[in-house]
Amino acid sequence: MPNTFSIEAHDLKKIYRRGSEEIPAVNDVSLSIGQGEFVSFVGPSGSGKTTLINILGCLDNPSSGRLRVDGRDIFTEGRTLSEADLTRIRRDLFGYVFQKFYLIPTLTVLENVVLPFTFYKKPGAEKGVDEILKMLGIDHRKNHLPGQISGGEMQRVAIARALVNKPRILLADEPTGNLDTRRSSEIGLLLRELNKWEGLTVILVTHNPNLAQMANRSVELRDGMVYTGPEACKPDEGCA
Ligand code: ADP
Ligand code: MG
Repeated sequence: MPNTFSIEAHDLKKIYRRGSEEIPAVNDVSLSIGQGEFVSFVGPSGSGKTTLINILGCLDNPSSGRLRVDGRDIFTEGRTLSEADLTRIRRDLFGYVFQKFYLIPTLTVLENVVLPFTFYKKPGAEKGVDEILKMLGIDHRKNHLPGQISGGEMQRVAIARALVNKPRILLADEPTGNLDTRRSSEIGLLLRELNKWEGLTVILVTHNPNLAQMANRSVELRDGMVYTGPEACKPDEGCA
């Protein structure tokens, strides 16, 4: 039977140590994300969003807990895959998009988009590049340099670059943090389309409530924990 979960996390914890102080950036988070889901992560600055999705995206190790991605054990109580296996998982399964676009200014849009092929190319992946550029509305920009296009277009170039190796999961950490309202909604709509039409699992971290609600599900983090709303409290137990 095919595995229907992209991500299964149990009791994930990440503790940073600053001198003698321990900072639980992620504190016993358990959650599952189904294949083809579009989930947004919201929460105040410092609530652990980046730390958590970096762990879910296999970019960082938890201090403890268990993580399965696409049916594979990544981290199980203190044991993690080898760096070589992790590299394989990252390049086979994930596309990453960040707030900063990280485009190379001296390369054209097209050259930036196909840059991942320098390191690794899935068989036949080059055939999909034109279609991706068209879908993202940047095909007319492919010979331009990043400095000659708008911020919204730059982020779409970064998304195209994340897609060329046909990931199963797209991870986007505050992708619209540097964009105005209109460009942000455009990126949100695009993520929704990619999720709907390409069946891509999308994990989006955002401060923008309008963007967060474009997802099928929103997970709120507070102090490194999943927030599930105020505890049920009955008036006869002393609560107003
Ligand atoms: P968010 O993305 O929601 O703003 P982060 O995951 O970046 O939250 O941070 C969660 C907490 O962990 C914060 O208290 C932050 O200061 C702390 N933190 C994040 N990265 C580090 C690090 N490398 N070393 C120490 N503390 C960190
Ligand atoms: Mg963050």
